[in-house]
Amino acid sequence: MKKDIYGVYGASGFGREVMPVVRAQLESSGVSADRVVFIDDNPGEGFVNGHQIVCFHDFMEIDARNRYVSIAIASGEIREELARKCIDSGAIPLNVIAQNVISMDDVEIGEGAILSPFVTITSNVKIGKNFHANIYSYVAHDCVIGDFVTFAPAVRCNGNVVIEDHAYIGTGAIIKQGRPGKPLVIGRGAVIGMGAVVTKDVPPGLTVVGNPARPLQRG
Ligand code: UDP
Repeated sequence: MKKDIYGVYGASGFGREVMPVVRAQLESSGVSADRVVFIDDNPGEGFVNGHQIVCFHDFMEIDARNRYVSIAIASGEIREELARKCIDSGAIPLNVIAQNVISMDDVEIGEGAILSPFVTITSNVKIGKNFHANIYSYVAHDCVIGDFVTFAPAVRCNGNVVIEDHAYIGTGAIIKQGRPGKPLVIGRGAVIGMGAVVTKDVPPGLTVVGNPARPLQRG
């Protein structure tokens, strides 16, 4: 019988951090490491960290029963584009959840998520498609997170926060908790700078930095 094949899309920084998590997840269900490859549209060297790199076209040509893909690229825009391409081609989105992730009660999480080591999701949390939570991040109670949202490492997202699609939260940012019925809202496509302390709503598309977080003044 044909075997499945698994791809980590993106052979750069984040992809190389995700690969060992994927390998560990699949090892426990008896999948051998040679059935896990990197997919990259600029494939360069033939192997990275022991895994073959192939372009998307070649991935789709590998003899396999099912094709599973984890998109390990930090840009939410690129993730959306690649997720659509993968699904249109018949590849199946893979959820990647590190073995030490803590997920409490009533956590709903969409397809294509990557939860890196030491991530915690507490209770009554709803998360959309292709979420990335990088190492040591947490999402606390009653948060609602949209599609293609990215958490860099060590993001602290407290309770009753709404994060709309495509927001990017930088390393070490702290988001103040909202209130039941009056969540703190981070708008669609907003960018929260590294180490920012977000104390109030952030409008869509805005970049905020500092403590307390304020709009970034450019130039
Ligand atoms: N990439 C790709 N297809 C795309 C966009 C990016 O294969 O449409 C690859 C790109 O060649 C690179 C990786 O994805 O190897 C993204 O790496 P980058 O360092 O920009 O992001 P990170 O690893 O930090 O998410």
